[in-house]
Amino acid sequence: MKALQYRQVGAKPEVVEVPKPEPGPGQVLLRVSAAGICHSDQFVMSLPPEGFRYPLPLTLGHEGAGTVAALGEGAEGVAIGDSVAVYGPWGCGRCVKCAEGKENYCLNAAAEGIMPPGLGSPGAMAEYMIVDSPRHLVPLRGLDPVKNVSLTDAGLTPYHAIKNSLPKLGAGSTAVVIGAGGLGHVAIQVLRAITGARIIALDVNGEKLELARQVGAHETLLSNSDAPQRIRELTGGLGASAVFDFVGMQPTVEIAGASAAVEGDVSIVGIGGGALPVGFLTTAWDVAVRSPYWGSRAELIEVLELARRGQISVEVETFSLDEAPHAYQLLHDGKIRGRAVIIPNG
Ligand code: NAD
Ligand code: ZN
Repeated sequence: MKALQYRQVGAKPEVVEVPKPEPGPGQVLLRVSAAGICHSDQFVMSLPPEGFRYPLPLTLGHEGAGTVAALGEGAEGVAIGDSVAVYGPWGCGRCVKCAEGKENYCLNAAAEGIMPPGLGSPGAMAEYMIVDSPRHLVPLRGLDPVKNVSLTDAGLTPYHAIKNSLPKLGAGSTAVVIGAGGLGHVAIQVLRAITGARIIALDVNGEKLELARQVGAHETLLSNSDAPQRIRELTGGLGASAVFDFVGMQPTVEIAGASAAVEGDVSIVGIGGGALPVGFLTTAWDVAVRSPYWGSRAELIEVLELARRGQISVEVETFSLDEAPHAYQLLHDGKIRGRAVIIPNG
């Protein structure tokens, strides 16, 4: 079968021929319907050899959806032909975090070498993929896999970050979204759907600001050093009740810190390497800063429910597996509107 692999540190990803996998005991084989391209893939492929900790070659794709093609011995709970989404942050299933459904914060994954598909285990950018357990599958129940596959990360990750800050986002509150790309354009819709916040979106790209307005942002601003002042003006001097930074570089975390209101939350979601000091005379009183990772299984079910009810949707540009290297280039150049989705069996 064909797969898109990152094969050598510093090289471009390549479409190659690999053996079709067989499901082992407890595993599920999916015929992949769709696989989303995330900026995190680009982060992985930008790591220098010293910092690189993934086994190579690596089949990319941590946003996956497919139909069940075969079940390994003892795998139960799904049937051949079921259309499912893959819950990507695989955990051990036994620790206290996994018991809560928070496999994204599994306490044993690192020690046991459990790695998400596309971020260590073979991912969804292939005709077929192995899912280690039926526990990591959520039925799509009528949702189109191509339009919704990215909810498994570009939906789930912002949803989890926003839910953390829900108590701060009642009527009259303001949420700032920095970076209106794959994650950010879904974040705006989730904020609209589950909070009372007025939404201010920031980006460096005018087309992304236009997308932000189309999906529900009330105000848009260029992301630069004037932004905190503009946010204060737009909020009567108060600042933002919560800031979600989907870039996470030093300049954006500084905008986030300078924009947060008294008792405001700052969530650094983007993996841009920035860090925000918190302290007296540095941030407003009682500002809290967190760095959330992906989301829980329960939250994925909730996100899919929001889509089923028509409250959120992903702007999708589709590509074949052969076009996947080109799609990565377009993402790198800031030319993808919303999310790029690969259809490996198209
Ligand atoms: P994307 O490329 O689709 O979107 C990034 C957006 O940020 C683009 O619209 C771009 O124009 C904008 N941008 C770039 N520089 C900016 C700046 N200085 N100020 C404001 N906007 C700027 O990326 P994505 O797939 O949405 O991912 C966003 C980030 O989140 C990446 O760093 C990714 O690695 C990270 N991520 C984190 C998690 C997690 O669990 N924490 C999960 C998925 C992705
Ligand atoms: Zn991702």
